[in-house]
Amino acid sequence: MRSDRTLRVYLWLVVGVAMPVLVLAALAAVRGFDGRPRGTVAVIVIVFCLVLIAGELWPIPVARGKGAGDDLTVSSTFGFGLLFVAPVFIAMMAQAVALTVDALWRRRPLDRLAFNIAQYALAYWVARAVYAAVAKVPFTPMHPAPLPALLPSAAAGTAFLLVNNTLVAIAVAISVQMRLGRVLLDDLKWQITTSAPLLGLGPLTVQAMMWTPASIVLLLMPIIALHHSGTMLMNREREARRDALTGLANRTVLHIAGTEALQKSTGGTALLLLDLDHFKEVNDTLGHGVGDQVLIAVAQRLPGAVGPLDLVARLGGDEFVVLARGVDSASEALALANRICSAVNVPVALHGVAIAVGCSVGVALGPAHGDSVQDLLRCADVALYQAKSTRGAVAVYDGTADRHSAAELGLQADLAMALAHAGAGQVWVAYQPQLSIASGRSTSVECLVRWRHPTLGEIQPDHFIPIAEGGALIHRLFELVVDKALGQLVEWDRSGLVLTASVNVSARQLSNAGLPETIRRCLDRHGIAPRRLILEVTETRLMSDPARSVEIIVELRKQGVQISIDDFGTGYSSLAYLQRISADELKIDRSFVQEIDDPGVANIVRSTIDLGHNLGYRVVAEGVEDADTAVRLADMGCDVLQGYLIGEPVAAQDLPAQIDAMVWVPRGRVLRDVDDGRTVLPINLRRAMALPRRAVRDSAV
Ligand code: C2E
Ligand code: CA
Ligand code: CA
Repeated sequence: MRSDRTLRVYLWLVVGVAMPVLVLAALAAVRGFDGRPRGTVAVIVIVFCLVLIAGELWPIPVARGKGAGDDLTVSSTFGFGLLFVAPVFIAMMAQAVALTVDALWRRRPLDRLAFNIAQYALAYWVARAVYAAVAKVPFTPMHPAPLPALLPSAAAGTAFLLVNNTLVAIAVAISVQMRLGRVLLDDLKWQITTSAPLLGLGPLTVQAMMWTPASIVLLLMPIIALHHSGTMLMNREREARRDALTGLANRTVLHIAGTEALQKSTGGTALLLLDLDHFKEVNDTLGHGVGDQVLIAVAQRLPGAVGPLDLVARLGGDEFVVLARGVDSASEALALANRICSAVNVPVALHGVAIAVGCSVGVALGPAHGDSVQDLLRCADVALYQAKSTRGAVAVYDGTADRHSAAELGLQADLAMALAHAGAGQVWVAYQPQLSIASGRSTSVECLVRWRHPTLGEIQPDHFIPIAEGGALIHRLFELVVDKALGQLVEWDRSGLVLTASVNVSARQLSNAGLPETIRRCLDRHGIAPRRLILEVTETRLMSDPARSVEIIVELRKQGVQISIDDFGTGYSSLAYLQRISADELKIDRSFVQEIDDPGVANIVRSTIDLGHNLGYRVVAEGVEDADTAVRLADMGCDVLQGYLIGEPVAAQDLPAQIDAMVWVPRGRVLRDVDDGRTVLPINLRRAMALPRRAVRDSAV
């Protein structure tokens, strides 16, 4: 994938270069060294080799700041020390053994091992060559070796760090697609403050050991202390950076790593947002303990499905994020997303029971879709929603399908202005009358918000409500609609028109704990009885945070406010939903009402009306556009009708006239249009009902 090929070529290239150097070093060792090390030198060589291997296996964990951590090995200290007393080949070999043992123990990939051996071999070789040149001594140390000289040691140490780090930095730059200079620069402070002093200990250690080999005990003590405190510090830091349940990185780490990738990578960065399917049901039916086990199992699968340098984080709940660097195209990101899905979509076996696990993934690509982690998360969230709603498992963010495009962000700002200057009347409320079949009168209205944009003209609520929901505007918008509606009720009361107001509540509002209080204040301000306010909620609005929404609904009903279940029948689990909340009214969605000529749909409508009644609800049919439909609904026992037939949404001042225009039609009577005296026939009404003049005319024969 991605730059993997280039990386592999590079790794093997370094190995290729190191091969002859190793052979040369071996030859030099055989030729230049007068016999095997003896006495103190032999002790030093053996001790150093052992400590070098131990150092590689038990690195000192250290924090690198900004939430990143690293391992510090003391192996190079002793490898470097070896250069002063033994042929360079011995340091190379000791290092190779240490790296091999470590790689086998930690199951690291073998191509990396070959590279690491080569990288150290080259670094040691260059370091010794520089030392020999500056100190003017032979390449292979004489026996017994003289004490290391200070300046040449410094030069050799610098050469070692330079070669070692550059070789690694090139590999990093290739794999995360960053500029080499940038990688080296980022690493510089770390090298100067940490690696260099450790390396400097090498010649000092040789000096001390030559004084007495027992000094190794004194030398190891501070290293062990450092190891101990480093581990403790790292554990604490790891806790702050890890998700407690799964041990994956948390939001903070994602933020830091993502920001770095976006700012420093020369290639693209993909952010994959993963959400488990039906996790809530697992939690609800099998308990949180099992839910946690499923999350842990998924967390364990993810790292194996992504690249070694990709970051896996858990945001909370059943949401995970994978941050992948060097992803330049949607197809690469999709391939990764599919790999993740196949890894996750394997049942989790718990106590002998297999629990099905599935996931959906939303993908956003930086910098194409955003240059901050927040932006990418938002885009990935939109893509995830698209994936879930199309029932596909993965989707890449599609800007054109996103409601929050740049133009709409502009609209959001405009809407904020319009709401801040509510007096200017850009945002107003239209009222649509509802007809109570039993009384034959209009006793209620639905309040529908309208926005007259100064340059764009009328904008439909279906268009701007989601924009308001994207920001915090929805709260202000809702308050404005309720306030205007209740104020209007008071005004109509004065003229003798007593109505009930239905107001739509959006998803964001329903999870707002302050909603009951807001409504109480509004009702008090206008002195309106709570029963005269009906809040229309929909299933999708309820679903975003079901437990919270249900609590708020219970609270509102306690207050005396009525609840209406809007757009009933369009959700995908409407019956479950009915069981969850208690309401006062059920509104059959207009998609059913408008298809009522279809016998199947008619059956559904009839059953829904019965269902509503059995639950003790008033049943409203919306979208009633013609008299035949009105009659059928009345026949089926529907309580309230709403739709263009009854009246269109109009400004407050036009509503009384519209209500007056309704004609009282007694049951089973021949109808006479009051305007032109024509006889209209025959609507076989079984109950008395009112119809507006237009309806009477429509059904004329
Ligand atoms: P809704 O709650 O289903 O509102 C009824 C919609 O149906 C209104 O559209 C209304 O004009 C339209 N309608 C009424 N009678 C008929 C009919 O006979 N035939 C047809 N085809 N349509 C009819 P509108 O005003 O464009 O509102 C659209 C949606 O915007 C509403 O759907 C509601 O979900 C939302 N909305 C409107 N006002 C508000 C509000 O103040 N707050 C919130 N959160 N949402 C609102
Ligand atoms: Ca509604
Ligand atoms: Ca509706």
